[in-house]
Amino acid sequence: MNTPDETDVLVVGAGPSGVAAAVMAASLNLRTVVVEAGTVGGKLHVIGALENVPGNWSTGPQLAEALATDLVRLQQAGRCSVVQGRAASVTGYDDRAELVLEDGRVLSAQLIVVATGVAALAPHDADWISAPTHLSVPPLWRTKPADLTGRTYILGGDRPLGTWLRTHPHSSTSLHVLCPSADDYKLAEVAGDERVRIVPVSHVIVSPLAYGDEWSLQIEDRQGERKSYVAKTVLNNLGNTPARLDGLTSSEDGYCPPGKQHPRIRVAGDLRSAQFQRITTAQGSGAEAVLAPYYASILKPC
Ligand SMILES: Cc1cc2nc3c(=O)[nH]c(=O)nc-3n(C[C@H](O)[C@H](O)[C@H](O)COP(=O)(O)OP(=O)(O)OC[C@H]3O[C@@H](n4cnc5c(N)ncnc54)[C@H](O)[C@@H]3O)c2cc1C
Repeated sequence: MNTPDETDVLVVGAGPSGVAAAVMAASLNLRTVVVEAGTVGGKLHVIGALENVPGNWSTGPQLAEALATDLVRLQQAGRCSVVQGRAASVTGYDDRAELVLEDGRVLSAQLIVVATGVAALAPHDADWISAPTHLSVPPLWRTKPADLTGRTYILGGDRPLGTWLRTHPHSSTSLHVLCPSADDYKLAEVAGDERVRIVPVSHVIVSPLAYGDEWSLQIEDRQGERKSYVAKTVLNNLGNTPARLDGLTSSEDGYCPPGKQHPRIRVAGDLRSAQFQRITTAQGSGAEAVLAPYYASILKPC
């Protein structure tokens, strides 16, 4: 079994991109260690209905289980090990790359693939929303149709909306989607669904009301007109922010383009860009993050 401090490839994150990187590395006889802070499968665990991944998978958790089985198989064959821990930073050197975990452990390898994906945004993170700092709004993706009471407002037009609508084709509740201009392009795939009511906004003030379980919403539309509502159901669909590690080079939007990193540090999956956040692109980029340095002779099998 590999020990983390003498390995060829370190993969950070065991979502679809990280597992694809690990499987590719092991197939090339490279000693491989995967560092995962949570559960193998990453975001797959929250996908209720899948229709764009080859292989007859109908839900994300089914595919997550298959990926976990892949890693177990590789571990049993002595070709890969999995370390539970949260990575904090990466550094590239001429002859190696180093990963520091939050608990202080330092791991090194010929190559580090960072595949940590994205983390959910809270209302106070969005520049078009004013909300109390610690306000927690339930996420749309985890909400069942039976939980929707009264008029339902959705904060933001991120892609889980389309997944939710496909997962619950028989829900007839109208979803009033408060949409800043930056989210307009994301709504193309749901605009034809008659359950979706798009509300173009420039600013929203959201706060829980002191009595009961209702919310106050003060909405300013893109013409500057203001309206106030009391709502029973408000759900978070704001999207994500890149889960980047210290030491990575990022663009203005916080994403970490693979071409801007040290040659011994590769970025795969959702962390690369807001535009390619799909399971199959994550898997392809994970495999490529290992193959490209392998063919460039940055990686040398022992
Ligand atoms: C609600 C929802 C529905 C979606 N529906 C679809 C769909 O229908 N079809 C589709 O193609 N895509 C869909 N997606 C997108 C898809 O899930 C992602 O594109 C894909 O999971 C990205 O894979 P990844 O490996 O880059 O990241 P992730 O799946 O996010 O995996 C990242 C992994 O890294 C771990 N990690 C994070 N930080 C650290 C750290 N510091 N140290 C160690 N480990 C860390 C996490 O625990 C996680 O396991 C959906 C996403 C959401 C949220």
